[in-house]
Amino acid sequence: MTDTIGTAALVDWVTRYRDVVTEKKEWLTELDSAIGDADHGANMSRGMAAVVDKLSADAPGTVDDLLKGVGMTLVSSVGGASGPLYGTLFLRMGMTAGPVTELDAAGLAGALRAGLEGIVARGKAEAGDKTMFDAMAPAVDAMDAAIARGAGLADASRAAATAAALGRDATLPLVARKGRASYLGERSAGHLDPGAASVTLLFESLADTIAGSS
Ligand code: ADP
Ligand code: MG
Repeated sequence: MTDTIGTAALVDWVTRYRDVVTEKKEWLTELDSAIGDADHGANMSRGMAAVVDKLSADAPGTVDDLLKGVGMTLVSSVGGASGPLYGTLFLRMGMTAGPVTELDAAGLAGALRAGLEGIVARGKAEAGDKTMFDAMAPAVDAMDAAIARGAGLADASRAAATAAALGRDATLPLVARKGRASYLGERSAGHLDPGAASVTLLFESLADTIAGSS
């Protein structure tokens, strides 16, 4: 068995993510209505619908072209903070992956790490600011740690999803220091961060895709 994720499975991943953010659109909107402007569900479902439409018309044959295309579509179809941030995540993943047709566990983890660094370069979030960073950073760390222990793609991506969910839940008591929610100051405490919630769905979709294809 080759333990890699190829372009077809990457398309399955973003398609599954489109389905999940569409299914959970109201929940994401509810989270954003508590500490933002109630558009995160609409932003993510619109952006991912555009991504999947574009991929069904023309799916690139290499990982870099595919992921860069996802990023560019998100930047152009999603307004607000999350479009450029998710766009940067996928653009950086693509740039790091290069013109290959598949990634092994370390290659996928390296691409996700570069994506996280892109989000930080763009949004300047730090741990505890109550943003998508708070779910994504522990997810990428958990993936690296699992790979260092000898885990393959399935176990490493499941460890990442579990860590993302814990990071999302840990945003509940935090006071937001970045983005729209920071305008609320102390009143942002007591609510989950919408971006941390959608990033967790991204990692859960990845783990479910890999589990389903092995
Ligand atoms: P907007 O805030 O423009 O309405 P969304 O509602 O789609 O955009 O996305 C909000 C999410 O974006 C937040 O929950 C947070 O996770 C994330 N976010 C906002 N600003 C930043 C930032 N500077 N760095 C990282 N993530 C951020
Ligand atoms: Mg919003």
